[in-house]
Amino acid sequence: MKAPPFAYAAPASIEGALALLAAHEDAKVLAGGQSLMPALNLRLAAPSVLVDINAIPELSEVSITPAGLRLGALVRHSRIGTNSAIAGAVPLLGLAYPHIAHGPVRTRGTIGGSLAHADPSAEWPAVCLASDAVMEVRGPGGGRDVPAEEFSLGIFTTAIEPGELLVAIRFPAWPASRRAGFAEVARRDGDFAMVGAAVTVDLGADGTCTDARIVLFGASSRPVRRREAEARLRGQVPGAALLREAASLAAQGIDPPSDLHASAEYRRRVAPVMVRRALADALSLPEARLAS
Ligand SMILES: Cc1cc2nc3c(=O)[nH]c(=O)nc-3n(C[C@H](O)[C@H](O)[C@H](O)COP(=O)(O)OP(=O)(O)OC[C@H]3O[C@@H](n4cnc5c(N)ncnc54)[C@H](O)[C@@H]3O)c2cc1C
Repeated sequence: MKAPPFAYAAPASIEGALALLAAHEDAKVLAGGQSLMPALNLRLAAPSVLVDINAIPELSEVSITPAGLRLGALVRHSRIGTNSAIAGAVPLLGLAYPHIAHGPVRTRGTIGGSLAHADPSAEWPAVCLASDAVMEVRGPGGGRDVPAEEFSLGIFTTAIEPGELLVAIRFPAWPASRRAGFAEVARRDGDFAMVGAAVTVDLGADGTCTDARIVLFGASSRPVRRREAEARLRGQVPGAALLREAASLAAQGIDPPSDLHASAEYRRRVAPVMVRRALADALSLPEARLAS
């Protein structure tokens, strides 16, 4: 099928984009087009105007300061995954990148587009949640910060209000004591995950876990922190047995969907395995990758 007819505008500034969004209630933002164009061609969306944000230089800016990493919403997947300074600033980004799609999609797709699209199986939203990222959203009334936890609201639904634009993603500085792990299972290399886990573990000088983030994605309508499992790690020196226990706690009570790719039962069984592997990799405990 072909996309329905639409008008096209490519403003050169954020203000220009916001003015167009305000003037056309059903306008859609076009970033990398890797999710939007298929949706148009399948006639799942029929906006009257496409507001192409690719000509707004500010949206592609990257800055790394002592406060952390700031990625413009239009920064491409490939730039994130192949720039050692970016992956050095937030190692979880570098670990997740190889799981995202294929070369052509990576060179066009953007982190902002992925976050705004809010596919529950996408990698960047899970990474943002596990890294305490904050989304900078701008609208006609000014700017506001939305913590990752409040940003993804459900399948293809975010906190972005009509007329607003996601302009940047801020990641707080990554402590030297923080380890990261990422694991997912997909039908084929580069496919969306059926289930995945993004984790961080902070270790004290004596090897005690001082803090942890465990995020499951693909297991519900949005990526979710598994706080009980995180609490199980805090104050402990992690070993294989503890990681197995935390992993099974992380998967307790999840209610995953069944779809063409996997049944709910499969996702339920695989979720703890993904958490266990991510934690084992984060802590360099290869024996903990095994079931027992
Ligand atoms: C074959 C294939 C495989 C893929 N595999 C994966 C995968 O394994 N993992 C994965 O995570 N993704 C995957 N994707 C999706 C890909 O990552 C997309 O790039 C991403 O979902 C959307 O980013 P985009 O820049 O292309 O956004 P677009 O397609 O341009 O936009 C997507 C949506 O977000 C809105 N939007 C975009 N930018 C903004 C903004 N700054 N502010 C407000 N709204 C905005 C648009 O209006 C639209 O509704 C795949 C895509 C394809 C085609």
